[in-house]
Amino acid sequence: MRELETTEEELAKLGERALELALEYWSSVEDRPAVPKVSGKATQDLFSEPWPHEPVGADVLDEFREIAAHARPSGGRFFGYVFGSGEPVGALGELLAAALNQNAGAWRSAPSAVAIERTVVQWLANAVGCDGFAGSLCGGGSAGNLIALTMAREAKMPANEAGARPCTIYTSDQVHMSVPKAIAMLGIGRTNLRLVPCDENFRMRVDALESVISEDRLAGNTPIAIIATAGTVNVGAIDPLTEIATIAKREKLWLHVDGAYGGLAALAVPEKFRGLELADSLTLDAHKWLYQPVECGCVLYRDPSIARKTFSQTGDYVRTFSEDPVEGFAFFEETFELSRRFRALKLWMSLRYHGRHAFQQAILRDLTHARILAERIRSNPTLELLTPVELSAVCFRHRYQDNAALLRRVLARSRVYLSNATVNGQFALRACFVNHRTREEDVISIVSEIEAAASDLDL
Ligand SMILES: *Cc1c(COP(=O)(O)O)cnc(C)c1O
Repeated sequence: MRELETTEEELAKLGERALELALEYWSSVEDRPAVPKVSGKATQDLFSEPWPHEPVGADVLDEFREIAAHARPSGGRFFGYVFGSGEPVGALGELLAAALNQNAGAWRSAPSAVAIERTVVQWLANAVGCDGFAGSLCGGGSAGNLIALTMAREAKMPANEAGARPCTIYTSDQVHMSVPKAIAMLGIGRTNLRLVPCDENFRMRVDALESVISEDRLAGNTPIAIIATAGTVNVGAIDPLTEIATIAKREKLWLHVDGAYGGLAALAVPEKFRGLELADSLTLDAHKWLYQPVECGCVLYRDPSIARKTFSQTGDYVRTFSEDPVEGFAFFEETFELSRRFRALKLWMSLRYHGRHAFQQAILRDLTHARILAERIRSNPTLELLTPVELSAVCFRHRYQDNAALLRRVLARSRVYLSNATVNGQFALRACFVNHRTREEDVISIVSEIEAAASDLDL
């Protein structure tokens, strides 16, 4: 055998073992502590050995148990951040995608992978009412926002040749941090991102948006884009999309919608997302509310020629590699990556395996879980619900405890995983439901865990 080659028998053994370990993990995920008992030092000690000169062999797979024991499990009692639950058929898709090792940069290098990616992008566009939009899969919402805002800049204030010029962009004060990060990377500068105040439901105030834009115009500044959010990361608010789109149109501004958290819920509750189809670009995150293993972001745009103008290196985008519109297609001319993983296979397999109805039902169940929790909080005199529940994020606090200490105690008890948010300047406990494993008793256990943690603190 030459180095790096594996015999078929050996590979069969390894494959069987790997699958066994994955199954063992999935079947034990609900029994694992919601917060792993780990320390920085323990993980450092376990996982910082030098690269061995001699082969370790099949033992590398057995180390998976240790790795899993020091991982934060994706079980039904995980309610932190906005993080999907890693649907196992999608995970098998990941394995098979890696086995094929396609470069999904262009049809030439990955015919089936590129065809499948273009199809799943159409599915996602259709799911959110944006039929006809083009797009691509990317690492996540941060990459999607960066790609879309680069297109906005190139459409309205071209910078590819001579560099960025001063311009202003508008979003609400509930914006996700990936947006100011993108604005910084684009050379527009964070001070040129105007944070428009929100109403009491954390939705961008349209009157305030209009006045900030006109102030900027009066001051001689150049507005280029508005970023609305469909599902703010803290509380799940949806900006008034139709009204914002009207302003964008009148002012000739690019409209991007950050739907990384909420957008895909349009599959189940389209009435909440009217106006999404008026956007020029849209970010979705299938590793959030479509339960896929990370990474699985998606950026959609109305006009693919702007994506090509933005990301084609030479201007050669007009000249295709082939006269055939399918065979000449290259994702690398519509995004910044050249070599790209076959991200679409997990979606293709998971979405078809379960069917569209199952995903709608799972999203509806998440929405119901959020309402159940909100109801339990409202009827509990020691707890206070801090925001309306529009989607599946629930922000609340204990009236009589130090809530940061309470959260630390809840996590130390390891039965549920909550995170926190700042709501109106106040520290809030936060539970977010984008989890196909969660059961109603898991939801109810949030309140009992808060109560138990509070009595622990009182001791
Ligand atoms: C999660 C999130 C993002 C970033 O997405 P990643 O996949 O974590 O990069 C952007 N915007 C919103 C509203 C989000 O919730």
